[in-house]
Amino acid sequence: MSDNATGAFGRNVFNEATMRECLPKNVFKSLKRTLEGRQPLDPATADVIANAMKDWAIEKGATHFCHWFQPMTGSTAEKHDAFISPTSDGKTIMEFSGKELTQGEPDASSFPSGGLRVTFEARGYTAWDCTSPVFVKEDGKNITLYIPSAFCSYTGESLDKKTPLLRSMEALNKQALRVLKALGNTTTQRVIATMGPEQEYFLVDRAFCDERLDLVLAGRTLFGAKPPRGQELDDHYFGSLHERVASFMNEVNNELWKLGVTAKTQHNEVSPAQYELAPVFSTVNVATDHNQLTMETLQKIALRHDFVCLLHEKPFAGVNGSGKHNNWSMSTDDGNNLLDPGDTPHDNMVFLVMLGAVVSAVDKNATLLRATVANTGNEHRLGANEAPPAIVSIFLGDQLNDIFEQLAQGGAKTSKQGGELKLGVSTLPPLPKDCTDRNRTSPFAFTGNKFEFRMVGSTQSVAGPSFVLNTIVADTLSDIADALEKADDVNGAAQKILQDIAVKHANIVFNGDNYAPEWVEEAARRGLPNIRSTVESLETIPSEENIALFSRHGVLSEHELKARTEVLLEAYSMQINIEAETMLNMAKRQILPSCCEYSARLGNAVAAVAGAGVAADTQTKMLKKVCDLITALQTGIEALEAGTAKAAGVDGSEGQAQSYRDDVIPAMNAVRAAADELEMLVDADLWPLPTYAEMLFMR
Ligand code: ADP
Ligand code: MG
Repeated sequence: MSDNATGAFGRNVFNEATMRECLPKNVFKSLKRTLEGRQPLDPATADVIANAMKDWAIEKGATHFCHWFQPMTGSTAEKHDAFISPTSDGKTIMEFSGKELTQGEPDASSFPSGGLRVTFEARGYTAWDCTSPVFVKEDGKNITLYIPSAFCSYTGESLDKKTPLLRSMEALNKQALRVLKALGNTTTQRVIATMGPEQEYFLVDRAFCDERLDLVLAGRTLFGAKPPRGQELDDHYFGSLHERVASFMNEVNNELWKLGVTAKTQHNEVSPAQYELAPVFSTVNVATDHNQLTMETLQKIALRHDFVCLLHEKPFAGVNGSGKHNNWSMSTDDGNNLLDPGDTPHDNMVFLVMLGAVVSAVDKNATLLRATVANTGNEHRLGANEAPPAIVSIFLGDQLNDIFEQLAQGGAKTSKQGGELKLGVSTLPPLPKDCTDRNRTSPFAFTGNKFEFRMVGSTQSVAGPSFVLNTIVADTLSDIADALEKADDVNGAAQKILQDIAVKHANIVFNGDNYAPEWVEEAARRGLPNIRSTVESLETIPSEENIALFSRHGVLSEHELKARTEVLLEAYSMQINIEAETMLNMAKRQILPSCCEYSARLGNAVAAVAGAGVAADTQTKMLKKVCDLITALQTGIEALEAGTAKAAGVDGSEGQAQSYRDDVIPAMNAVRAAADELEMLVDADLWPLPTYAEMLFMR
């Protein structure tokens, strides 16, 4: 019953085509100027737009509108208001003013602020972000007009993920334009950061999830013995879709297409029960909003198919976790991808300068970039042998690496070409071969005409890593623009800049296997940072250099940056605390009682067998083993209780996060180890939790 894709696409979006239809010509033109950043929206125009939007939304069945924003929780927030407005004769009319469209005043006191506002200063503002289209969303019988918005405090400080992202896009636009102009470009008016985030996720039967408090509350399994089969057969990646999963994907796509999300690619991922969805790229701002909608839609539709969609970075130990690959580039308003190398990259100066800017930005800010992906979930991935390590490095590939080396020598003269692949079968076509192979292990890989940042966690908003990437590249471009604008011989100056970058930042380039243990040693020799723990990584954020960097480009003030760090550290502690409490709950109320029951059964067996005059050596051995593990489990529980009590009592977000890392996580590991061993001994009928084999393989 799939909708026709072209018919369904964007049906619920107040997009440019709809606006052109619904709005008077002069209003549409005025809005276009605002969208292009050339003129603020005036109240009269806003009133006309709001009215047209309301009529359009009501025709789609909407009764409410909401400002939809992205607080620093990483997810989204919304408060619905009905369009109704009572009239003096006891009836109502449907109203929606320009002010209601452009501004909202939610109470800000219950969102994380990292100290940016105190509870009695509760007022917060939301402001319409007209660069991301308004849409209508259907949830059950409720149909609502969604207005993508930025969110700030009474004092104008950003309390969300969108504001710094929009600011960083402006910074990047400004500095990239300066460089383009200096290099002789006369046509480009705007440079836009683009993003295509690939989203990984797991699907598990809802019946299993409902029986696991850890999945319900923490989104990941806190217990679970290794199943007899994992991902070793490599048979799930790109495997044929299970029918139930395919139906789910079909409904997800239709739902997303209606919302204007360009869901494009879908496939099985590496782990059993793991999948991926990728959209066609868009501006990084729209991509961020759409990724939020994608995560929400995956979860919503999963329930309709009796699945639960797990977005956590590491729902299951021992098999691959989930990430988000942020494909990033820069586009001009006149249609050029600035990271497109063309056929002969060695003489494509704009491309080389942009590439150089990214390489130098990533090298100079590797620690900061690492911190953008630091969260509790990702701690299980980065540095483990499935995901990129915690060391930031760049993959350039054969062709660009060769050019980079030529640049270091003083100038690039040639570009290696790809050629053709012949498969030796006359009926198969010759394949044009890319000039560079792929590298699946690199955390930051050049992939043809964009960079792919692969360290991002699957639950994360793409806004954080993106605003940092935009800002650090803007910063390097600003230095380059300073030099080029001063130069008499621009080409000579550009060559010199490229040579400097190629010499100075050669260390960050690594084209080998990032998962190999030798790389960790090699990276240490090169002096590249390798920050494994989330807490340690977050602590690097509010450094002098970073404060200066973000204020220089108007992306975050010192106060805002420090507040954000607080929020992230607090989130770490809270998340670990939830996991620890959940673990204690399950261990004490489910696992221990089952194990005790089993030990009693064994005890009875020992007594019965011995009473019958037969040696009960085996039963005794089993009983002993189970009792020893029960003791280990109980000891672990007590240690975990002590650890959480200690951590909860620590003052200050930094010290507290450290305590959760050092006092709680090791205790959790000990509890799990004992319980997982018991799982392999206790009668399957008595085991209170669905097993890994069931959750990963039964659909
Ligand atoms: P792969 O898994 O092979 O890396 P996918 O097709 O799954 O590739 O995802 C690649 C992503 O990169 C897609 O979302 C795609 O739209 C996006 N992309 C392509 N070109 C650009 C670009 N210029 N800027 C940003 N993202 C891009
Ligand atoms: Mg992919």
